[in-house]
Amino acid sequence: MAKSQQAKQSKLRLIPSVDEILRTSGANNLRESIGAKRLTTIARQVTSEMRSEMRAHPSKIVDSNIMDEAVRRLEEKCRLEKLSGLRHVINATGVVLHTNLGRAPLSEDARKAIVREASRYCTLEYDFASGTRGRRGARVEALLQQLTGSEDSLIVNNCASAALLILAVLARGGETIVSRGELVEIGGDFRVPDVMSNSGTVMVEVGTTNRTSLDDYRRAINSNTRLIMRVHPSNYRVVGFASTPSTAELAILADEANLPFYEDAGSGLLEVFNDELKDEPLISSLMAQGVDVVSFSGDKLLGAIQAGIITGKTDIIQKLRRHPLYRALRIDKLRLAALEATLVSYERGVAREEIPTVQMIHLSREKIGRRAQALINRLASRTIAMNLIDGYSTVGGGAGPTAHLPTVLIAITHPKLSAVQLETKLRAALPPVIARIADEKVLLDLRTVFPEEEPDLLGALIQLT
Ligand SMILES: *Cc1c(COP(=O)(O)O)cnc(C)c1O
Repeated sequence: MAKSQQAKQSKLRLIPSVDEILRTSGANNLRESIGAKRLTTIARQVTSEMRSEMRAHPSKIVDSNIMDEAVRRLEEKCRLEKLSGLRHVINATGVVLHTNLGRAPLSEDARKAIVREASRYCTLEYDFASGTRGRRGARVEALLQQLTGSEDSLIVNNCASAALLILAVLARGGETIVSRGELVEIGGDFRVPDVMSNSGTVMVEVGTTNRTSLDDYRRAINSNTRLIMRVHPSNYRVVGFASTPSTAELAILADEANLPFYEDAGSGLLEVFNDELKDEPLISSLMAQGVDVVSFSGDKLLGAIQAGIITGKTDIIQKLRRHPLYRALRIDKLRLAALEATLVSYERGVAREEIPTVQMIHLSREKIGRRAQALINRLASRTIAMNLIDGYSTVGGGAGPTAHLPTVLIAITHPKLSAVQLETKLRAALPPVIARIADEKVLLDLRTVFPEEEPDLLGALIQLT
Protein backbone atom coordinates (compact mmCIF):
# COMPACT_ATOMS: atom_id res chain seq x y z
CA MET A 1 0.00 0.00 0.00
CA ALA A 2 1.40 3.42 -0.92
CA LYS A 3 2.11 5.84 1.90
CA SER A 4 -0.62 8.32 0.95
CA GLN A 5 -3.08 5.43 0.81
CA GLN A 6 -2.15 4.48 4.36
CA ALA A 7 -2.61 8.03 5.55
CA LYS A 8 -6.05 8.09 3.97
CA GLN A 9 -7.00 4.83 5.63
CA SER A 10 -6.01 6.01 9.06
CA LYS A 11 -7.87 9.27 8.57
CA LEU A 12 -10.99 7.39 7.55
CA ARG A 13 -10.89 5.67 10.94
CA LEU A 14 -11.48 9.05 12.55
CA ILE A 15 -15.01 9.17 11.19
CA PRO A 16 -17.30 8.13 14.03
CA SER A 17 -19.23 4.89 13.71
CA VAL A 18 -23.00 4.83 13.33
CA ASP A 19 -23.30 3.63 16.93
CA GLU A 20 -21.14 6.44 18.24
CA ILE A 21 -23.23 9.03 16.39
CA LEU A 22 -26.44 7.50 17.73
CA ARG A 23 -25.15 7.76 21.30
CA THR A 24 -24.71 11.58 21.12
CA SER A 25 -27.20 13.90 22.77
CA GLY A 26 -27.89 15.44 19.36
CA ALA A 27 -29.08 12.08 18.07
CA ASN A 28 -31.02 11.41 21.26
CA ASN A 29 -32.97 14.59 20.75
CA LEU A 30 -34.02 13.49 17.27
CA ARG A 31 -34.97 9.94 18.10
CA GLU A 32 -38.56 10.51 19.18
CA SER A 33 -39.64 12.64 16.26
CA ILE A 34 -37.82 10.66 13.55
CA GLY A 35 -38.02 7.13 14.92
CA ALA A 36 -35.04 4.97 15.95
CA LYS A 37 -34.95 2.90 12.77
CA ARG A 38 -35.05 5.84 10.42
CA LEU A 39 -32.46 7.69 12.51
CA THR A 40 -30.06 4.74 12.14
CA THR A 41 -30.53 4.77 8.37
CA ILE A 42 -29.86 8.51 8.21
CA ALA A 43 -26.78 8.14 10.47
CA ARG A 44 -25.49 5.46 8.09
CA GLN A 45 -25.99 7.89 5.17
CA VAL A 46 -24.00 10.51 7.07
CA THR A 47 -21.02 8.21 7.73
CA SER A 48 -20.87 6.88 4.18
CA GLU A 49 -21.15 10.42 2.80
CA MET A 50 -18.31 11.62 5.06
CA ARG A 51 -16.18 8.64 4.12
CA SER A 52 -16.47 9.26 0.39
CA GLU A 53 -15.83 12.99 0.89
CA MET A 54 -12.72 12.25 2.89
CA ARG A 55 -11.47 9.88 0.19
CA ALA A 56 -11.89 12.64 -2.37
CA HIS A 57 -10.54 15.56 -0.26
CA PRO A 58 -8.58 14.14 2.71
CA SER A 59 -7.68 17.59 4.06
CA LYS A 60 -11.22 18.98 4.15
CA ILE A 61 -12.48 17.45 7.36
CA VAL A 62 -10.61 18.55 10.46
CA ASP A 63 -10.13 15.80 13.06
CA SER A 64 -11.09 17.76 16.16
CA ASN A 65 -14.69 18.54 15.20
CA ILE A 66 -15.46 15.44 13.20
CA MET A 67 -18.15 14.20 15.59
CA ASP A 68 -19.77 17.66 15.72
CA GLU A 69 -19.78 17.65 11.95
CA ALA A 70 -21.46 14.24 11.83
CA VAL A 71 -24.17 15.30 14.29
CA ARG A 72 -24.71 18.58 12.43
CA ARG A 73 -25.24 16.65 9.22
CA LEU A 74 -27.61 14.24 10.95
CA GLU A 75 -29.68 17.13 12.27
CA GLU A 76 -29.78 18.86 8.91
CA LYS A 77 -30.89 15.70 7.09
CA CYS A 78 -33.64 15.13 9.66
CA ARG A 79 -34.75 18.76 9.35
CA LEU A 80 -34.98 18.57 5.55
CA GLU A 81 -36.85 15.30 5.73
CA LYS A 82 -39.48 16.81 8.00
CA LEU A 83 -39.79 19.87 5.77
CA SER A 84 -40.37 17.74 2.69
CA GLY A 85 -43.86 16.84 3.92
CA LEU A 86 -47.11 18.68 3.31
CA ARG A 87 -46.83 22.05 5.04
CA HIS A 88 -48.64 25.35 5.33
CA VAL A 89 -47.21 28.16 3.18
CA ILE A 90 -48.07 31.84 2.81
CA ASN A 91 -49.31 32.43 -0.73
CA ALA A 92 -48.13 35.92 -1.67
CA THR A 93 -48.38 35.25 -5.42
CA GLY A 94 -51.83 36.80 -5.84
CA VAL A 95 -53.01 33.66 -7.67
CA VAL A 96 -56.19 32.87 -5.77
CA LEU A 97 -56.62 29.27 -6.96
CA HIS A 98 -52.96 28.26 -7.10
CA THR A 99 -52.95 24.65 -8.28
CA ASN A 100 -49.48 23.89 -6.86
CA LEU A 101 -50.45 25.42 -3.51
CA GLY A 102 -53.62 23.38 -3.07
CA ARG A 103 -56.17 25.50 -4.98
CA ALA A 104 -58.91 26.83 -2.70
CA PRO A 105 -58.09 27.67 0.94
CA LEU A 106 -60.91 26.55 3.23
CA SER A 107 -63.27 28.70 5.25
CA GLU A 108 -63.04 28.74 9.04
CA ASP A 109 -66.29 26.78 9.29
CA ALA A 110 -64.99 24.17 6.83
CA ARG A 111 -61.78 23.79 8.82
CA LYS A 112 -63.69 23.42 12.06
CA ALA A 113 -66.13 20.93 10.52
CA ILE A 114 -63.25 18.66 9.50
CA VAL A 115 -61.77 18.66 12.99
CA ARG A 116 -64.91 18.73 15.12
CA GLU A 117 -67.49 16.80 13.13
CA ALA A 118 -65.65 14.39 10.88
CA SER A 119 -62.26 13.48 12.27
CA ARG A 120 -63.55 10.89 14.73
CA TYR A 121 -66.84 8.95 14.44
CA CYS A 122 -69.56 10.81 12.59
CA THR A 123 -72.91 10.40 10.90
CA LEU A 124 -71.34 9.66 7.51
CA GLU A 125 -73.92 7.04 6.56
CA TYR A 126 -76.11 7.15 9.61
CA ASP A 127 -79.53 8.67 9.95
CA PHE A 128 -79.35 10.28 13.33
CA ALA A 129 -83.13 10.78 13.64
CA SER A 130 -84.07 7.12 13.12
CA GLY A 131 -80.86 5.49 14.31
CA THR A 132 -80.60 3.50 11.09
CA ARG A 133 -78.40 3.55 8.04
CA GLY A 134 -78.48 6.83 6.13
CA ARG A 135 -77.17 8.12 2.83
CA ARG A 136 -73.68 9.59 2.51
CA GLY A 137 -73.94 13.28 1.69
CA ALA A 138 -77.70 13.62 2.24
CA ARG A 139 -77.37 17.14 3.72
CA VAL A 140 -74.99 18.26 0.95
CA GLU A 141 -77.51 17.02 -1.62
CA ALA A 142 -80.27 19.02 0.05
CA LEU A 143 -78.10 22.15 0.08
CA LEU A 144 -77.21 21.72 -3.60
CA GLN A 145 -80.88 21.33 -4.43
CA GLN A 146 -81.54 24.70 -2.79
CA LEU A 147 -78.56 26.42 -4.35
CA THR A 148 -78.71 25.08 -7.91
CA GLY A 149 -82.32 24.03 -8.42
CA SER A 150 -81.14 20.50 -9.25
CA GLU A 151 -83.37 17.50 -8.60
CA ASP A 152 -80.53 15.42 -7.16
CA SER A 153 -76.74 15.37 -6.82
CA LEU A 154 -73.73 13.20 -6.14
CA ILE A 155 -70.20 13.98 -4.93
CA VAL A 156 -67.09 12.22 -6.23
CA ASN A 157 -63.33 12.62 -5.90
CA ASN A 158 -62.85 15.47 -8.39
CA CYS A 159 -64.34 16.88 -11.57
CA ALA A 160 -62.23 14.51 -13.69
CA SER A 161 -63.83 11.55 -11.84
CA ALA A 162 -67.23 13.11 -12.37
CA ALA A 163 -66.67 13.28 -16.13
CA LEU A 164 -65.36 9.71 -16.19
CA LEU A 165 -68.35 8.40 -14.22
CA ILE A 166 -70.94 10.27 -16.27
CA LEU A 167 -69.43 9.25 -19.61
CA ALA A 168 -68.96 5.62 -18.54
CA VAL A 169 -72.46 5.24 -17.14
CA LEU A 170 -74.38 7.16 -19.79
CA ALA A 171 -72.38 6.55 -22.94
CA ARG A 172 -70.11 3.49 -22.70
CA GLY A 173 -70.34 1.42 -25.87
CA GLY A 174 -72.00 4.23 -27.80
CA GLU A 175 -71.18 7.66 -29.21
CA THR A 176 -70.83 11.02 -27.48
CA ILE A 177 -71.10 14.20 -29.52
CA VAL A 178 -68.83 17.12 -28.65
CA SER A 179 -67.79 20.31 -30.46
CA ARG A 180 -64.22 20.57 -31.80
CA GLY A 181 -64.02 23.92 -30.03
CA GLU A 182 -64.31 22.16 -26.68
CA LEU A 183 -61.65 19.46 -26.95
CA VAL A 184 -59.61 21.14 -24.27
CA GLU A 185 -56.82 20.14 -21.95
CA ILE A 186 -57.16 21.35 -18.38
CA GLY A 187 -54.38 21.29 -15.81
CA GLY A 188 -51.95 19.06 -17.67
CA ASP A 189 -53.68 15.72 -17.57
CA PHE A 190 -57.39 16.27 -18.03
CA ARG A 191 -57.91 16.03 -21.80
CA VAL A 192 -61.43 15.65 -23.09
CA PRO A 193 -60.54 13.07 -25.81
CA ASP A 194 -58.64 10.95 -23.27
CA VAL A 195 -61.45 10.99 -20.73
CA MET A 196 -63.82 9.92 -23.51
CA SER A 197 -61.66 6.97 -24.55
CA ASN A 198 -61.02 5.91 -20.96
CA SER A 199 -64.71 5.80 -20.23
CA GLY A 200 -65.37 3.63 -23.26
CA THR A 201 -67.42 6.03 -25.35
CA VAL A 202 -66.67 6.91 -28.97
CA MET A 203 -66.09 10.62 -29.33
CA VAL A 204 -67.84 12.17 -32.31
CA GLU A 205 -66.40 15.62 -33.01
CA VAL A 206 -68.58 18.19 -34.72
CA GLY A 207 -68.05 21.71 -36.10
CA THR A 208 -64.72 23.49 -36.11
CA THR A 209 -62.41 25.02 -33.53
CA ASN A 210 -64.09 28.42 -33.72
CA ARG A 211 -67.60 27.71 -35.01
CA THR A 212 -70.08 24.93 -34.35
CA SER A 213 -73.75 25.15 -35.29
CA LEU A 214 -76.84 23.42 -33.95
CA ASP A 215 -77.09 21.64 -37.32
CA ASP A 216 -73.62 20.20 -36.85
CA TYR A 217 -74.87 18.51 -33.69
CA ARG A 218 -78.17 17.48 -35.30
CA ARG A 219 -76.46 15.83 -38.28
CA ALA A 220 -74.19 13.77 -36.01
CA ILE A 221 -77.08 12.13 -34.14
CA ASN A 222 -77.70 8.50 -35.12
CA SER A 223 -78.89 5.30 -33.47
CA ASN A 224 -75.51 4.82 -31.68
CA THR A 225 -75.57 8.26 -30.07
CA ARG A 226 -75.85 8.07 -26.29
CA LEU A 227 -74.97 11.57 -25.10
CA ILE A 228 -74.39 15.20 -26.08
CA MET A 229 -71.59 16.73 -24.08
CA ARG A 230 -70.56 20.33 -23.70
CA VAL A 231 -67.29 21.33 -22.02
CA HIS A 232 -66.67 24.75 -20.56
CA PRO A 233 -63.31 25.77 -22.06
CA SER A 234 -62.24 27.06 -18.60
CA ASN A 235 -58.60 28.03 -19.08
CA TYR A 236 -58.75 29.37 -22.62
CA ARG A 237 -60.99 31.49 -24.84
CA VAL A 238 -61.83 31.53 -28.53
CA VAL A 239 -62.42 35.14 -29.51
CA GLY A 240 -63.28 36.82 -32.82
CA PHE A 241 -65.17 34.85 -35.50
CA ALA A 242 -66.60 32.29 -33.13
CA SER A 243 -69.99 30.88 -32.30
CA THR A 244 -71.67 27.90 -30.75
CA PRO A 245 -75.31 27.09 -30.00
CA SER A 246 -76.69 28.27 -26.68
CA THR A 247 -77.11 25.83 -23.82
CA ALA A 248 -80.89 26.16 -24.12
CA GLU A 249 -80.82 25.32 -27.85
CA LEU A 250 -78.70 22.24 -27.24
CA ALA A 251 -80.98 21.17 -24.41
CA ILE A 252 -83.98 21.33 -26.74
CA LEU A 253 -82.15 19.38 -29.45
CA ALA A 254 -81.12 16.68 -26.95
CA ASP A 255 -84.65 16.49 -25.63
CA GLU A 256 -86.14 16.08 -29.13
CA ALA A 257 -83.64 13.32 -29.88
CA ASN A 258 -84.36 11.73 -26.50
CA LEU A 259 -80.68 11.97 -25.51
CA PRO A 260 -79.19 13.12 -22.22
CA PHE A 261 -77.29 16.43 -22.32
CA TYR A 262 -74.23 16.79 -20.09
CA GLU A 263 -72.28 19.97 -19.40
CA ASP A 264 -68.87 19.88 -17.72
CA ALA A 265 -68.93 23.36 -16.21
CA GLY A 266 -65.38 23.17 -14.78
CA SER A 267 -65.44 25.78 -12.09
CA GLY A 268 -69.06 26.73 -12.13
CA LEU A 269 -70.58 29.34 -9.87
CA LEU A 270 -73.31 29.10 -7.29
CA GLU A 271 -73.88 32.86 -7.34
CA VAL A 272 -72.93 35.74 -9.61
CA PHE A 273 -69.41 37.06 -9.02
CA ASN A 274 -68.12 40.24 -10.60
CA ASP A 275 -67.93 41.20 -14.30
CA GLU A 276 -64.46 39.72 -14.61
CA LEU A 277 -65.98 36.28 -14.16
CA LYS A 278 -69.09 36.70 -16.28
CA ASP A 279 -68.02 33.85 -18.61
CA GLU A 280 -68.18 31.31 -15.81
CA PRO A 281 -71.49 29.42 -15.98
CA LEU A 282 -73.93 29.70 -13.12
CA ILE A 283 -74.92 26.14 -12.18
CA SER A 284 -78.53 27.14 -11.42
CA SER A 285 -78.81 28.71 -14.85
CA LEU A 286 -77.54 25.54 -16.58
CA MET A 287 -80.09 23.49 -14.66
CA ALA A 288 -82.85 25.96 -15.53
CA GLN A 289 -81.93 25.85 -19.22
CA GLY A 290 -82.56 22.11 -19.27
CA VAL A 291 -79.11 20.54 -18.97
CA ASP A 292 -79.71 17.00 -17.68
CA VAL A 293 -76.46 16.59 -15.78
CA VAL A 294 -73.73 19.06 -14.82
CA SER A 295 -70.30 18.54 -13.24
CA PHE A 296 -68.02 21.08 -11.56
CA SER A 297 -65.05 21.22 -9.19
CA GLY A 298 -65.29 21.68 -5.44
CA ASP A 299 -61.94 23.46 -5.09
CA LYS A 300 -62.16 26.06 -7.82
CA LEU A 301 -64.39 29.14 -7.54
CA LEU A 302 -66.74 27.33 -5.17
CA GLY A 303 -63.94 27.57 -2.61
CA ALA A 304 -64.17 24.21 -0.87
CA ILE A 305 -62.28 20.92 -1.06
CA GLN A 306 -61.18 18.80 -4.02
CA ALA A 307 -64.37 17.19 -5.26
CA GLY A 308 -66.42 16.61 -8.35
CA ILE A 309 -69.95 17.83 -7.82
CA ILE A 310 -72.60 16.33 -10.05
CA THR A 311 -76.05 17.88 -10.18
CA GLY A 312 -78.89 16.75 -12.40
CA LYS A 313 -82.11 14.91 -13.05
CA THR A 314 -83.11 12.26 -10.53
CA ASP A 315 -83.09 9.30 -12.93
CA ILE A 316 -79.57 10.09 -14.15
CA ILE A 317 -78.12 10.72 -10.70
CA GLN A 318 -79.66 7.48 -9.44
CA LYS A 319 -78.04 5.56 -12.28
CA LEU A 320 -74.68 7.11 -11.39
CA ARG A 321 -75.12 6.34 -7.69
CA ARG A 322 -75.93 2.68 -8.34
CA HIS A 323 -72.96 2.12 -10.66
CA PRO A 324 -69.95 0.23 -9.16
CA LEU A 325 -67.61 2.95 -10.42
CA TYR A 326 -69.21 5.41 -7.97
CA ARG A 327 -68.01 3.25 -5.07
CA ALA A 328 -64.44 3.76 -6.34
CA LEU A 329 -64.80 7.48 -6.86
CA ARG A 330 -66.87 8.74 -3.92
CA ILE A 331 -65.40 11.21 -1.43
CA ASP A 332 -64.48 10.72 2.21
CA LYS A 333 -66.00 12.08 5.43
CA LEU A 334 -63.41 14.86 5.96
CA ARG A 335 -64.05 16.49 2.63
CA LEU A 336 -67.78 15.97 2.87
CA ALA A 337 -67.80 17.85 6.19
CA ALA A 338 -65.87 20.77 4.67
CA LEU A 339 -68.07 20.88 1.58
CA GLU A 340 -71.22 20.93 3.71
CA ALA A 341 -69.92 23.80 5.83
CA THR A 342 -68.98 25.77 2.69
CA LEU A 343 -72.39 25.24 1.12
CA VAL A 344 -74.04 26.41 4.34
CA SER A 345 -72.21 29.74 3.95
CA TYR A 346 -73.69 30.09 0.47
CA GLU A 347 -77.14 29.21 1.74
CA ARG A 348 -76.89 31.80 4.50
CA GLY A 349 -75.93 34.39 1.87
CA VAL A 350 -72.54 35.12 3.45
CA ALA A 351 -70.19 33.55 0.90
CA ARG A 352 -68.40 36.88 0.35
CA GLU A 353 -67.69 37.23 4.04
CA GLU A 354 -66.86 33.64 4.91
CA ILE A 355 -65.38 31.79 1.93
CA PRO A 356 -61.77 32.83 1.34
CA THR A 357 -61.72 32.42 -2.47
CA VAL A 358 -64.90 34.46 -2.89
CA GLN A 359 -63.68 37.06 -0.43
CA MET A 360 -60.21 37.34 -2.03
CA ILE A 361 -61.58 37.74 -5.53
CA HIS A 362 -63.78 40.59 -4.31
CA LEU A 363 -61.02 42.42 -2.38
CA SER A 364 -60.63 45.92 -3.79
CA ARG A 365 -57.34 47.41 -4.95
CA GLU A 366 -57.76 50.11 -2.29
CA LYS A 367 -58.14 47.68 0.57
CA ILE A 368 -55.12 45.63 -0.53
CA GLY A 369 -53.16 48.88 -0.93
CA ARG A 370 -53.97 49.96 2.64
CA ARG A 371 -52.82 46.62 4.06
CA ALA A 372 -49.63 46.74 1.97
CA GLN A 373 -48.87 50.29 3.16
CA ALA A 374 -49.42 49.34 6.78
CA LEU A 375 -47.11 46.35 6.40
CA ILE A 376 -44.23 48.29 4.85
CA ASN A 377 -44.62 51.09 7.41
CA ARG A 378 -43.74 48.56 10.09
CA LEU A 379 -40.48 47.75 8.32
CA ALA A 380 -39.34 51.22 7.23
CA SER A 381 -35.65 52.24 7.37
CA ARG A 382 -34.25 48.73 6.95
CA THR A 383 -31.84 47.64 4.20
CA ILE A 384 -34.36 46.35 1.71
CA ALA A 385 -36.30 48.82 -0.44
CA MET A 386 -40.02 48.31 -0.58
CA ASN A 387 -42.32 50.19 -2.93
CA LEU A 388 -45.98 49.88 -3.73
CA ILE A 389 -46.76 49.40 -7.40
CA ASP A 390 -49.96 48.75 -9.34
CA GLY A 391 -50.49 45.31 -10.80
CA TYR A 392 -52.94 42.48 -11.28
CA SER A 393 -53.84 39.34 -9.37
CA THR A 394 -55.14 36.30 -11.22
CA VAL A 395 -57.90 33.83 -10.42
CA GLY A 396 -55.95 30.71 -11.49
CA GLY A 397 -57.07 27.10 -11.29
CA GLY A 398 -58.30 27.14 -14.86
CA ALA A 399 -61.03 29.68 -14.10
CA GLY A 400 -61.54 33.11 -15.61
CA PRO A 401 -58.31 33.09 -17.68
CA THR A 402 -58.95 36.61 -18.92
CA ALA A 403 -59.95 38.04 -15.54
CA HIS A 404 -57.73 40.86 -14.34
CA LEU A 405 -58.08 41.77 -10.71
CA PRO A 406 -56.40 45.15 -10.05
CA THR A 407 -54.13 44.99 -7.04
CA VAL A 408 -51.29 46.78 -5.24
CA LEU A 409 -48.01 44.89 -5.06
CA ILE A 410 -45.14 45.26 -2.63
CA ALA A 411 -42.00 45.36 -4.81
CA ILE A 412 -38.83 44.43 -2.91
CA THR A 413 -35.21 45.02 -3.89
CA HIS A 414 -31.98 44.63 -1.92
CA PRO A 415 -28.69 46.52 -2.47
CA LYS A 416 -26.67 43.29 -2.51
CA LEU A 417 -29.06 40.38 -3.13
CA SER A 418 -30.67 39.53 -6.48
CA ALA A 419 -34.42 38.99 -6.79
CA VAL A 420 -33.83 35.24 -7.09
CA GLN A 421 -31.79 35.26 -3.86
CA LEU A 422 -34.49 37.23 -2.06
CA GLU A 423 -37.20 34.93 -3.31
CA THR A 424 -35.19 31.89 -2.17
CA LYS A 425 -34.79 33.38 1.31
CA LEU A 426 -38.53 34.00 1.56
CA ARG A 427 -39.17 30.42 0.52
CA ALA A 428 -36.83 29.20 3.29
CA ALA A 429 -38.77 31.11 5.97
CA LEU A 430 -41.06 29.35 8.45
CA PRO A 431 -43.73 29.17 7.18
CA PRO A 432 -42.38 29.55 3.64
CA VAL A 433 -43.50 32.68 1.77
CA ILE A 434 -44.19 32.05 -1.91
CA ALA A 435 -43.71 35.18 -4.02
CA ARG A 436 -43.27 36.05 -7.68
CA ILE A 437 -40.45 37.83 -9.48
CA ALA A 438 -40.72 40.39 -12.27
CA ASP A 439 -38.20 42.95 -13.56
CA GLU A 440 -35.57 41.92 -10.97
CA LYS A 441 -37.99 42.61 -8.12
CA VAL A 442 -39.71 40.27 -5.71
CA LEU A 443 -43.44 40.99 -5.76
CA LEU A 444 -45.82 40.31 -2.90
CA ASP A 445 -49.57 40.43 -3.44
CA LEU A 446 -51.54 40.57 -0.19
CA ARG A 447 -54.78 39.57 -1.93
CA THR A 448 -53.99 35.92 -1.19
CA VAL A 449 -52.36 36.48 2.21
CA PHE A 450 -54.69 36.01 5.18
CA PRO A 451 -54.52 38.99 7.58
CA GLU A 452 -53.60 36.60 10.39
CA GLU A 453 -50.57 35.47 8.34
CA GLU A 454 -49.18 39.01 8.17
CA PRO A 455 -47.08 38.75 11.37
CA ASP A 456 -45.29 35.70 9.92
CA LEU A 457 -44.85 37.49 6.60
CA LEU A 458 -43.39 40.44 8.46
CA GLY A 459 -41.04 38.07 10.28
CA ALA A 460 -39.84 36.65 6.96
CA LEU A 461 -39.28 40.18 5.62
CA ILE A 462 -37.29 41.20 8.70
CA GLN A 463 -34.95 38.28 7.99
CA LEU A 464 -34.13 39.85 4.61
CA THR A 465 -32.87 43.03 6.20
C1 LIG B 1 -60.85 21.98 -13.85
C2 LIG B 1 -61.70 21.26 -14.79
C3 LIG B 1 -61.78 19.87 -14.77
C4 LIG B 1 -60.98 19.06 -13.80
O1 LIG B 1 -61.40 19.30 -12.52
P1 LIG B 1 -60.70 18.61 -11.24
O2 LIG B 1 -61.64 18.89 -10.14
O3 LIG B 1 -59.38 19.25 -11.12
O4 LIG B 1 -60.58 17.15 -11.56
C5 LIG B 1 -62.60 19.23 -15.66
N1 LIG B 1 -63.31 19.93 -16.56
C6 LIG B 1 -63.25 21.26 -16.65
C7 LIG B 1 -64.06 21.96 -17.68
C8 LIG B 1 -62.45 21.98 -15.75
O5 LIG B 1 -62.40 23.32 -15.81
